Amino acid sequence: MRITAADVVVTCPGRNFVTLRVTTEDGLVGLGDATLNGRELAVASYLADHVVPLLLGRDARAVEDTWQYLYRGAYWRRGPVTMAAIAAVDTALWDIKAKAAGMPLYELLGGACRVGALAYGHASGRDLPELFDSIRLHLERGFRAIRVQTGVPGLGTVYGVASSAAGGGDRYDYEPARPTALPVEEVWDTRAYLRHLPGVFEAVRHEFGPELPLLHDGHHRMTPIEAARLGKALEPYDLFWLEDATPGEDQAALRLIRQHTTTPLAIGEVFNSVHDYTTLLGERLIDYVRSAVTHTGGVTAMRKLLDYAAVHGARSGLHGPTDISPVGMAAALHLDLAVHNFGIQEYMPHTARTLEVFRTSYTFTAGLLHPSDAPGLGVELDLDAAARFPYRAAYLPVNRLADGTVHDW
Ligand SMILES: [Mg+2]
Repeated sequence: MRITAADVVVTCPGRNFVTLRVTTEDGLVGLGDATLNGRELAVASYLADHVVPLLLGRDARAVEDTWQYLYRGAYWRRGPVTMAAIAAVDTALWDIKAKAAGMPLYELLGGACRVGALAYGHASGRDLPELFDSIRLHLERGFRAIRVQTGVPGLGTVYGVASSAAGGGDRYDYEPARPTALPVEEVWDTRAYLRHLPGVFEAVRHEFGPELPLLHDGHHRMTPIEAARLGKALEPYDLFWLEDATPGEDQAALRLIRQHTTTPLAIGEVFNSVHDYTTLLGERLIDYVRSAVTHTGGVTAMRKLLDYAAVHGARSGLHGPTDISPVGMAAALHLDLAVHNFGIQEYMPHTARTLEVFRTSYTFTAGLLHPSDAPGLGVELDLDAAARFPYRAAYLPVNRLADGTVHDW
């Protein structure tokens, strides 16, 4: 089953996506997501200039061997660009293998462990009335777990808070990457945030009751001792998790947070290798693995990472906002169904324009996602539709403190 073509498709149906489309001599087509939000063309070049020439003529069935060939063969290992490129190849080869077998990918990964993957949605509001409306809207749409992000008095735009009120306009999800010449700059004040947040969770619990799983993302902005204090302050509100409390690369920080709070901890969306987790999982410092299949070397590498997490009592919480294409989302859903230590899946529905380009078959019913029983990943790429939406440069924001110091965004 020789690979005869591998094409890199860059398209912008509202936001940029990079897709690798691999074709075999017998006409099977496999797709892999290589989208790295804000740095998309670097991965497109890595693939087109350095990986595609190595794929032509290779046996598409050799998934593990191809992964090792690209990872070890590059000599320069890891990093988001390299691992997103390897992920795209790996996911496309799994798509082909499952199509050749006539099975949905999750069957090849061992079969379904559950009927669907519990999804959490992103609710947000600049103030409590707006936040409550947003939570209600998500509950009406079927979500059974909710991430809560809130504006902070005295601060302007805050990470995770949609700029339009719930129900206003034809899309309601948070789209921070903006097509501007330079990144938008925001101002941040951790003390104001820490004063405000526990009261917001108290109000949400009072309004929506004790059962609804609630999540929160700190987006790497706290010091270890600030995060420890927040985790402790949120304990009465029984969070499902506190995510990205501190910058993930400082692994010892999680040790300090863990010593002070029983609030479950999730981290890892900016990681790209199982080696980023050896301290965190080995010392049982986190409860949930937040990586994306798209940024972590694909289905092969994510399966190994989740098995490593399982040995250490941690569960999956795979990254899944709309900076992952529907191809990357589908890959996550097949793993969600097949691994025993599934926790929850992040889900922000893609726009109608995105779904014109990527024809999906996964479903969202009564709070649960299912990848569908179509052979392979269950996603098709419409090349004509993709060509109608050319690439547009877009940047994520940059954060500064009030005195101008650059801070984590
Ligand atoms: Mg996050």
